[in-house]
Amino acid sequence: MSDKPKSHGRLSISASQQPRDLMTDTPRLKGAWTAKIITLFPEVFPGTLGASLTGKALQQGLWSLETIDLRPFGEGKHRNVDDTPYGGGAGMVLRPDVVSKALDQAAIGTQGKRWPMIYLSPRGKPFTQERAQDWADADGITLLCGRFEGVDERVLQEYDVEEVSLGDFVLTGGEIAAQALIDATVRLIPRVLGNQASTEDESFQHGLLEHPQYTKPKLWRDRDIPDVLLSGHHGEIAKWQKAMAERLTKQRRPDLWRAYCDANNRDPDEDQEL
Ligand code: SAH
Repeated sequence: MSDKPKSHGRLSISASQQPRDLMTDTPRLKGAWTAKIITLFPEVFPGTLGASLTGKALQQGLWSLETIDLRPFGEGKHRNVDDTPYGGGAGMVLRPDVVSKALDQAAIGTQGKRWPMIYLSPRGKPFTQERAQDWADADGITLLCGRFEGVDERVLQEYDVEEVSLGDFVLTGGEIAAQALIDATVRLIPRVLGNQASTEDESFQHGLLEHPQYTKPKLWRDRDIPDVLLSGHHGEIAKWQKAMAERLTKQRRPDLWRAYCDANNRDPDEDQEL
């Protein structure tokens, strides 16, 4: 995690083509990690990001959100943003000249900063926890949400936009993916989760899935909890949790298990304790 000091508290001032509301629920604080989202549907943001811990942090200015509506950059009276694909086929494709204007607007204020530019796309590299950590350490991020059949290839190349995927399935648009990626990233920004320690032990943080969790009541429908968790013996508890995490990972995610064993000089076929 970056130990670079971030300032929180000073309101930022920047040029905008559109008049901005000075009294908003989400103050833009100078230096706060910012997600700029290019979308045809700005009204769906902050969406789930406005709830719970990410929402509270947004209101506190620990991070900020800026939507860039693609529609006003469209062509002609109807502000057309898309057209039919060359070569034929179903659907429409977002025009490069329209998307480029939105990317230019998003670039304002990012010069000299670490600011990844991402297109949400099923063709992209799958998103990972490691990626979320890397983005949390940046100054902010620009996310381009596709719709229809996607975006003209040339604008992605011209602006060196990287494609990132939420997984091997096809969504209707990039907005849900953008919210998922921002959620995973923002919760790693210091002070966003009340209890920082809670991100350190989670699934993927050490290349393993998380061990099972239990809470009250101690006995529920004849099901007890493992004795070791009541022992008060921190060493034994940690050992049990690690063994369970390893067992789960081996059973459910052979891909992660192999990578973990490689990194820790372990034999992936060795018998588990417990
Ligand atoms: N024709 C495209 C799919 C377009 S889906 C293809 O076959 O690859 C419309 C938009 O939804 C995409 O432009 C992208 O922004 C978003 N999207 C769809 N699936 C996604 C996924 N798995 N991850 C991230 N974004 C996705």
